[in-house]
Amino acid sequence: MSTMEELNRDIGACQRCDLARHRARVVPGEGPADSVVLFIGEAPGFHEDQQGRPFVGPAGQFLNQLLILAGLRREQVFICNVIKCRPPENRDPLPTEIQACRPWLDRQIELIEPKVVVTLGRYSMARYFPGAAMSKVHGKHIKRDGIVYFAMYHPAAALHQQSLRKAMEQDALTLKQVLSQLEPASAGPGEPESRQLSMF
Ligand code: SF4
Repeated sequence: MSTMEELNRDIGACQRCDLARHRARVVPGEGPADSVVLFIGEAPGFHEDQQGRPFVGPAGQFLNQLLILAGLRREQVFICNVIKCRPPENRDPLPTEIQACRPWLDRQIELIEPKVVVTLGRYSMARYFPGAAMSKVHGKHIKRDGIVYFAMYHPAAALHQQSLRKAMEQDALTLKQVLSQLEPASAGPGEPESRQLSMF
């Protein structure tokens, strides 16, 4: 299996879909390669495309606040998106683009082996909660093959809607509870210290 560095290099050279022609920079994702918690958003926006980093614009600032509510530090989680290049004018990703980019996300998950996957928005939700409605599933989690999947709205959706903002803050607190219940399992025998979920 490749290392995260090798994987990022491969993603950086990707031309599998038309978005390669429009991007300023690829945004593979960032965080420790052995993160316990993986956040998956939708697609890079303007700021992310410029900087090559995920969630660095206004939605990213809100995500940072949500991480604090969830008892997490940004540097201890891995954050990425369903697709790694910005769609023009921030339009929704096309099914063909999601399909083309899927192997990169698959390889990231294989490498990271997260214990908790938090979906941000409907595109990553669809991967783990097929057919679900966000209004019903946000703030809830399922456990499959030892991995917890937790659904949240996309932070960008909440920027201009106070009710969604409140819902996301509440969901972040629920996530904190879920993580605290998982903590003993995360720190099981044989787990390196970096894989232990220290919360604050
Ligand atoms: S969006 Fe994904 S599949 Fe398309 S060019 Fe970028 S990295 Fe490749």
